[in-house]
Amino acid sequence: MAPDTSPVRVTLTHEGQSFALQAGRIHDGGWRFEFHKHLAAESQPFDVVALRQVGWGELPWSWMLGWAALVAALLGAWLALLRQRTERQRAEELLRLGQVARLNTLGELAAGMAHELNQPLTAVLANTQAASRLLNDEPPELATARSAMTQAVEQARRASEVVGRLRRAVERPDLAAQLQSVVLEDAVRNALYLLEPEFKRRDVTPQLESPSTPITVLAEPVALEQIIHNLLMNALQALEQVPARERQLRVALGTEGSLGVISVTDYGPGIAADVLPRIFEPFFTTREAGLGLGLSLCETLASGMGGNLTAAHNTPRGAVFRLSLPLATKP
Ligand code: ADP
Repeated sequence: MAPDTSPVRVTLTHEGQSFALQAGRIHDGGWRFEFHKHLAAESQPFDVVALRQVGWGELPWSWMLGWAALVAALLGAWLALLRQRTERQRAEELLRLGQVARLNTLGELAAGMAHELNQPLTAVLANTQAASRLLNDEPPELATARSAMTQAVEQARRASEVVGRLRRAVERPDLAAQLQSVVLEDAVRNALYLLEPEFKRRDVTPQLESPSTPITVLAEPVALEQIIHNLLMNALQALEQVPARERQLRVALGTEGSLGVISVTDYGPGIAADVLPRIFEPFFTTREAGLGLGLSLCETLASGMGGNLTAAHNTPRGAVFRLSLPLATKP
């Protein structure tokens, strides 16, 4: 301690008397710290007392504020992380619930269909069997056979009405009436943005190749995004089956005559030769948890917008899906 400038007062005390070694800075308020040391020597039975008075102004404010800011920032980041995780969990839960609801609806629909169709089809079977027996009789019982056949026709008509009713119930709105100009790149970027967490989770960096002049097609924006979304999800699911370093996904935009084309290429395991012709069939799936409705829906949506969707092998490996839609402005 420099005796002239040190804020610590040091005194020697003995039986109520004290001798200041250095004055220090003592004032009112703040905190007081005292240090006592008894000098043990018989000839010098003194106490050495060091006194330090710390006032508000002497506190290391900048250091303390810095520390508080750092803790607040860390706390904020931690809370944001927690919130993000909760939101993600919620989104996953919603998705799962949506899938369950969809499956339940499908189950209900299938059960209803089976119930409504079973009765007329059983009657058709019984009546045609009876008619065939009556016709084989000697002599054939023509009148009864005719009546059985009429009933069979009646029941078959009922079955067809059930199917027709179902078709009308699930008919999609007329997409052709809702077409508008859509910039392909915007739709693709939107879908890529929405699927960003899915790409990250699988360690895939999609490549987007698009010409410098924007391609504008006639489409219903939501349907177009739904198709792109499904194709990207399928590609990601295919890529899950190959090692992480081989996972490549390319989305290329281009034009062909009066059509705008999006091709989604993945370097996954590709489509088996016996699967390829059936890939757009409703309920066709090779995935354990698959519904087999994604591609069939995509194809319906594409043709509803006056376009088409095709699937092919990609060389050297993987699959390529091409969606063509009419250009908004003729070339
Ligand atoms: P789901 O995904 O429910 O199986 P989809 O209609 O989307 O239904 O796909 C039908 C089938 O097409 C899948 O089960 C899979 O066998 C095949 N498939 C779709 N996309 C790809 C792809 N990118 N690579 C390989 N096979 C694919």
